[in-house]
Amino acid sequence: MACLEAFCGMSHREHLASRRVAVWHRRRLPPNVGLAKRLAASLLGQLVYLEPYSTLTNARMTESLRRINRHRPAMILAFASTLFELAKHARRTGIRMHRPRFILTSVEMLFEPMRAAIEEVFGCPVHDLYASAEVGRMAVECSHGGLHVLSFHNHVEILDPKGSPVAPGEVGRVVVTSLHSRAMPLIRYDIGDLARVASEPCACGSPLPVLAEIRGRIVDHFVRSDGGLVFGGNFVAMFYEHDWIAQFHVVQEDVERIRVSFRRTPGRDVPRGALDELTEIVQRAMGEDCAVLWDETDAMPRSPVGKHRHVRSLVWAQRAGSPSEV
Ligand SMILES: [Zn+2]
Repeated sequence: MACLEAFCGMSHREHLASRRVAVWHRRRLPPNVGLAKRLAASLLGQLVYLEPYSTLTNARMTESLRRINRHRPAMILAFASTLFELAKHARRTGIRMHRPRFILTSVEMLFEPMRAAIEEVFGCPVHDLYASAEVGRMAVECSHGGLHVLSFHNHVEILDPKGSPVAPGEVGRVVVTSLHSRAMPLIRYDIGDLARVASEPCACGSPLPVLAEIRGRIVDHFVRSDGGLVFGGNFVAMFYEHDWIAQFHVVQEDVERIRVSFRRTPGRDVPRGALDELTEIVQRAMGEDCAVLWDETDAMPRSPVGKHRHVRSLVWAQRAGSPSEV
């Protein structure tokens, strides 16, 4: 099976043996994974997680950058906007960064100013990884800049409004069929993003299909009353751990109020005390003065491109914290 890292110039063997840093939600191994596999995962991986529940205060950003420098990873995997914030912090404070072989960013759109800042600070190429919580990895950028569909993970179709494949060069809805998800098969699942099919094959020679552009992945930062920033993607990871929540939408209405709209999984009740527990976790990240309001609903809001936006901060939007601000 082709390996994702091969697109970034690293063999699978090298990848397993290399040091890595994930600015990512720590993955919990399922309880049925044995001790040998658990040890292998921790030893072979040489993987350091920078806990995403941390708020992006200056002190924490400095500490994260120092941990990256101590671990000296060959590869960093990160939420695009979090690494962008870290890169800006390194530049502001003059911290010189270790140079990995490459960086993979995901979850959100990697805008060009973000890529430029990260590449400048870390001195290595940044590859965009297109993935989703529902189906995992869908496409990755090769060293020639082509965004290759990982057809061995998922069958990805780009469709027009009538459900037919769009012509090369045109934009359509991203519809995915998972090839490995046996517990919960997803067939022709509309992921909510739009993509443009490339009109030329990629110069790298890979036969995998190429996308020219993906639109629609946007995750905001939440702003604490003390000015610290909390990456909204943390809440996405947190809510995905609870199978009684079918869908959710977290909105920061002002610095002291977060509203969580959610739809229950059919046939499931809200477990006793679950909302209080989740409120506490949110407050741990956002501060105790932040109220968390819960709304159960059947109709979830969607962004203008039709994607379900899991998190939205009206405070962040107001502060013009757009990625074009470098
Ligand atoms: Zn390519």
